[in-house]
Amino acid sequence: MQNELSIPSVKPATEDWGRLYVSRKCIGAAGCRNFAPELLAEVAAEHGLLDDGGSRAAGLPVLPGSYDKGAFTGVVRQPRSKEEYLAARTAAAACPFSAIRLEKPAAATQPGELG
Ligand code: SF4
Repeated sequence: MQNELSIPSVKPATEDWGRLYVSRKCIGAAGCRNFAPELLAEVAAEHGLLDDGGSRAAGLPVLPGSYDKGAFTGVVRQPRSKEEYLAARTAAAACPFSAIRLEKPAAATQPGELG
């Protein structure tokens, strides 16, 4: 006999809204970071970034493994919402060197919904 109790669907703790990766084609022009500053940041040089005064300042920590060696930009965090996915997509489209790869989100619903 089949159990007639229904089990409510459990929403995953974090939805998949795509994954960013920056390849070694990145030359660090930084245009992408203007479109998705919460997702992309400069890969800090070995001794940190220079601030306006010429001192070394800590930059945003990028995710290990989110960029090729030699790339100047890395991923701070992956998109967590439709809005962040759209920002990531705009950033990828804005890169003149096609250095940003963006996997499509599993959370995307209907074709055309994301524009
Ligand atoms: S990923 Fe592209 S747009 Fe972003 S810093 Fe690198 S070259 Fe510039």
